[in-house]
Amino acid sequence: MKPVLILGGGLTGLVAAERLAASRVSSRVVEKESEPGGACRTLGKDGYLFDLTGHLLHIGHEVTQSYLEDVGVWKELKTHERRAAIRVGNSVTPYPIQIHTHGLDPKTRRDCLLGFVRAWAAEAKSEPRSFEEWVLEQFGDGLAKHFFFPYNSKLYRAEPSELSLDWVGRYVPKPDLEEVINGALGLHQGETGYNAVFRYPCTGGIDCLPRAVAKRVENLELNRCVTAISLDESWVDFADGKRECFDDLVSTLSLPSLMDMIVDELPGDIAAARRVLRWVRVLNLALGVCGDAPTDQHWLYFPDPALPFYRVGFPSNHGSLAPEGAHTISVEVSLDPEGGDVDVLADQAMQALVGIGMVEEDQVQVRQLAVLDPAYVVFDHRRREAVAKLRKFLSSYGVIISGRWAEWKYSAMEDAILDGMTVARRLCGRAESRDTV
Ligand SMILES: Cc1cc2nc3c(=O)[nH]c(=O)nc-3n(C[C@H](O)[C@H](O)[C@H](O)COP(=O)(O)OP(=O)(O)OC[C@H]3O[C@@H](n4cnc5c(N)ncnc54)[C@H](O)[C@@H]3O)c2cc1C
Repeated sequence: MKPVLILGGGLTGLVAAERLAASRVSSRVVEKESEPGGACRTLGKDGYLFDLTGHLLHIGHEVTQSYLEDVGVWKELKTHERRAAIRVGNSVTPYPIQIHTHGLDPKTRRDCLLGFVRAWAAEAKSEPRSFEEWVLEQFGDGLAKHFFFPYNSKLYRAEPSELSLDWVGRYVPKPDLEEVINGALGLHQGETGYNAVFRYPCTGGIDCLPRAVAKRVENLELNRCVTAISLDESWVDFADGKRECFDDLVSTLSLPSLMDMIVDELPGDIAAARRVLRWVRVLNLALGVCGDAPTDQHWLYFPDPALPFYRVGFPSNHGSLAPEGAHTISVEVSLDPEGGDVDVLADQAMQALVGIGMVEEDQVQVRQLAVLDPAYVVFDHRRREAVAKLRKFLSSYGVIISGRWAEWKYSAMEDAILDGMTVARRLCGRAESRDTV
């Protein structure tokens, strides 16, 4: 048997290879970049460190904690209690807004509270069919108008009615009436949400995580870009002109890019399912700035449609990422998959940041741009069926897809670790069943 061929040396592919090696199943990881880590990479410049975009570790499973202990990362991590807020108009109130409307101006607060109470008291509730209906039913029209609709439209570049409910479960905290009333009066106690506490390396950036795993992966081939794949003939072509055959193929590449590389003629319904997939890119404008950060928050959300960014982070408020007497800022702008001049957009984001007093231009020492593509899958109403179809098609050729973008889902680094472990278990099972034949 040939070694398992794993496409992509991000966290999912690295963990899969590392776990396979632990079970004595050989694999190779091919990665197009010159270093491993994918979206979890960190770039340095002039004494500053910048993650490609804000990356905080949320650990909810013992198995991932044990894994991080095993690869030697856990002891390097410091725990932080989230300090995050939302800017609505000129007011700033803590996140999540639904239990913290106390920081809003009185008129906006009244809208949010009244809308919530009316939604809570409404009698006949029908099953919501879209994110729009769900928000109105769960939170009421005030919170919808001032936060949920503008924020999510800006992030997903889609109308709330176009979005399904498939992604909201774990990510949107759903408070009861008492919590909301307490929140309007500034009496809410305790933390809420999957990201109330996070971990981050004491020194250096988030890339310590993929680097620690990569150290244990023997066959990691960098600068190897896959350009074409034949499922019928089981080969992969690389940008260096080489063609290599495989027995077992794992892809952690994004689902649309994998489908677009397949040279075999696709059945009509499969080609149609590929065309359905929607996503946004994220432009991250990273700044290294002299002086103290303008806030002690870890990050701020910006629902205001007039501002180009949806979130601004202050990574040096939780990590040691800036030289003494300086700080870092991470400005995230959502973009369509194609189009838009990134330099122009970065300039607009910079001007808007200056406009709201978050930075003084002459204090900026370093400015770096990164584009994550894809960044967020758009969970519209056609996504679920299309992904199921594509997964089944690939699986009929024995191809395993794993990870956030390969499975076309919304998930975090902890999930990438779990996904890599699952791949290894599946492949070890395959190897065992071959051995016993
Ligand atoms: C804006 C944003 C913010 C996020 N914030 C957080 C956060 O705070 N906390 C958190 O836990 N998670 C966060 N995530 C999610 C996290 O980044 C992912 O869950 C995780 O990185 C997924 O890893 P992966 O290995 O599946 O994918 P990737 O990291 O994308 O790995 C895939 C690899 O494939 C390689 N590749 C692509 N094409 C080819 C090719 N043709 N040939 C060879 N190699 C190729 C890529 O270079 C990449 O290294 C965030 C994601 C985004 C977009």
